[in-house]
Amino acid sequence: MNKQISYRLDELFVEDVSVSEIADSLRTPFYVYSRSTIKNNFVRFKKSMEGLDGIICYSVKANSNLSVLETIAQLGGGADVVSLGEYQRALRAGIDQKKIVFSGVGKQDFEIAETLKSSLLQYNVESVSELESINKIAVSLNRQAPIALRVNPDIDAGTHENISTGKADNKFGIPITTAKDIYQYASKLEKIKIVGVDVHIGSQISDLNAFRQTFENLAKLINELKNTSIHIENIDIGGGLGIKYADNDAEPDLQKYCTLVRQILGNLNCSIIFEPGRYIVGNSGILVTKVLYKKKSQNKNFLITDAGMNDFSRAALYGATHRLIPISKKNSGETEVYDVVGPVCETTDTFLKNHIIERPEEGDFLAFLDVGAYGAVLSSEYNTRPLVPEIMVFNKRYEMVRSRPSYEEIFDKEFIPDWK
Ligand SMILES: *Cc1c(COP(=O)(O)O)cnc(C)c1O
Repeated sequence: MNKQISYRLDELFVEDVSVSEIADSLRTPFYVYSRSTIKNNFVRFKKSMEGLDGIICYSVKANSNLSVLETIAQLGGGADVVSLGEYQRALRAGIDQKKIVFSGVGKQDFEIAETLKSSLLQYNVESVSELESINKIAVSLNRQAPIALRVNPDIDAGTHENISTGKADNKFGIPITTAKDIYQYASKLEKIKIVGVDVHIGSQISDLNAFRQTFENLAKLINELKNTSIHIENIDIGGGLGIKYADNDAEPDLQKYCTLVRQILGNLNCSIIFEPGRYIVGNSGILVTKVLYKKKSQNKNFLITDAGMNDFSRAALYGATHRLIPISKKNSGETEVYDVVGPVCETTDTFLKNHIIERPEEGDFLAFLDVGAYGAVLSSEYNTRPLVPEIMVFNKRYEMVRSRPSYEEIFDKEFIPDWK
C-alpha cells in the first residue's frame, strides 16, 4: 500500500488528513488524491530516467483535474493531450506549451488550427489523411507543424484487450511496415516538419518484453530513416507502464524499464518523450463511499454502496478489481463475503464479487484504493447522479478541487423548446 495512504491506528489517512474528517463534512461518494504521492511518483520517474535526454509528458487523460496538472507543472512536467479541451487544461494549469504533445486518432480541424497558433512540441499523427489535414491547415495559417508518426508495431502487450493499442487490428497508429514510405511522403509536404517517431502499445502493461520488442523495432526504423536522410529528434515511447492493484499483481519495474530505454534507444542521439499516466497518478487516489444497504438474496450477500459505475467505471469497462477497505477499522475479527454493487440500474454496476471484508454496517464508510487514474475522468451523470466531487490533500490540508454540481446546475444546461 502507498505510504501516503495508510492506517494510523485504526483510521485511514491520506497524508496527514483523516478520511473520516472529510467524510463528516462532505457527502459521499467523493475522490481524494494525495498530492505528495503524485509528486513522489513523478520524481521517482524522473530519477529513473537519469542519463537519458528525456522529458515526461504526463498523459492528461489519466486524471485531468486542474490541481493534478498544476502539480505536474510545478515539477516541470509536460503533457500528452488528446483533445483541445485537454490542451487548454494543460495551459491553464501552467504547463509549458513547448512541452505538450498532441496525440489521438481523431484530431479535428478546429483542434489542429487552434493548437497550431502556439508552438507545441509535436503532433503524433495516426494516418495519412490526418497528415494531409494538418499540412493543409498549416499552409492556410502559414505555420510549420512539427510531427511524429505514431507507428503500430503489431505487438501484443499482454494486457486487457480493451486497453491494448499496439496490435495490427487496433485502430491506432500507422503500420510500422509502411512508416518509411509515409515519412518520405511527409517530408515533401510544404508545412510539415518531421521531428519524431511515436508509439504507444497499451496500458497497465507489466511484461517488459513487449516494451523491449517495441523499442527494438523503433530503433531499427530510426536507423533506416537515417539512411534516407530523414532525421528523427524525438522518440516518443508512449505510456503504459502498469501498477500494482492487488497484492499478488506483478509490479513492472520502473528501473528495468528505463534501463531498456537506455540500452535500446539511448545511443540514437534523440530525446526521449515518456507519456506515463497511470504510473504517476494511479495509486494517489481513493474513492470514498458509504454502505447504503446490506441485502441478502438466495445465495449471495450484496453490499450496496452509494458509489456507482457512473462515478467509477473501471470495473464495468475493464473488469478491473480494486481493493476496498474500511476507513475506520473495528478490529472485530469478524469477516463477511459480499458482492459489492452500486445503485445504478445496470447489472454491470458491480465493483467486486465475493469480496471478503470486516463485517460492515449500513452507514459505514469504505474506500476503493488506487483509483487516481481513469477514475473521476470517466465519471458521468448517468441516472442523474451529479458528477462526483474531488478533494486533494497536501500534508495537513485538504481542498475541494472539483465540486459536486447542484441539480439546478445540471438542469440549467438543458432546455425545453417552446414547440407552439
Ligand atoms: C492513454 C495513453 C497514455 C497513458 O497510458 P498509461 O497506461 O496511463 O500510462 C500515453 N500515451 C497515449 C498516446 C495514450 O493514449
